[in-house]
Amino acid sequence: MAQPSKLVLPGDLLAVIEEYLPGEGTYVFEEAGEIRAAITGYPFIDMKTRKLNVKPAGRTPRIPRRGSIIHGYVSMVPREDLALVRMVGDERMRRLSGSFTGVLHISQASEKYVNSIYQVVRLGDLIRAHVLSSKPPYILSIKLPQFGVVVAFCSQCGAILEKRPGSHLLVCPRCGNKEARKVSTYYMYRSRTRR
Ligand SMILES: [Zn+2]
Repeated sequence: MAQPSKLVLPGDLLAVIEEYLPGEGTYVFEEAGEIRAAITGYPFIDMKTRKLNVKPAGRTPRIPRRGSIIHGYVSMVPREDLALVRMVGDERMRRLSGSFTGVLHISQASEKYVNSIYQVVRLGDLIRAHVLSSKPPYILSIKLPQFGVVVAFCSQCGAILEKRPGSHLLVCPRCGNKEARKVSTYYMYRSRTRR
C-alpha cells in the first residue's frame, strides 16, 4: 500500500483486493487481484466505504471562472447587440479543458456608446475578454482597455488587419481597407508605418 502522500502513476500497485475496494481513479488487475492506479495522483482510503481512491494530481482543470481572463473567437453574431464567442484559451492562451461558449452583449463591449456589435467585433475575430459569471451562460466583458480584439481579419480580403500608430481604425496591409473594432491594448499585429 502506497503512503497516503506519495504520488502514484498509472499502473502502480496500490493494494490487493482483500484489503480494500477499488474506488475512483483505480482499476483492478484481475489476474493478480491487485488494485492499481488508473491515473496520476495521490491515493487515499475512505474508511467508511473501505474504498481506495486516487485523487487526481496536477493543475486544476482550466475552465472559465468569474474574474478569469479568456481568449476566444467570435463564432456567431445572432443579433445586432450580441456576439457568441468560442472560448479556446486562458489568459496566457493555454488551451481550456473543454469547449465553452461566451456571450458578449453590446452593453459590455465598450466604454463608449455603440449601436451595433459590428462596430466592436466581427465574425472570426480573436478577442481577449473578462469573464463575469461563474457558470454558463458565461457573460463576457471587453470594456476595459486591456480587453477587446487581439486579432482581426479584413472583411474585404481576409488578411490580418494591423494597428497603426495615430489611427483608431485597423488597416488592411493588403487592400488598404480600414475597419473599426474595440481593440485591446494586447492587439498582436502592429505596423510602424502610417498610412
Ligand atoms: Zn483587405
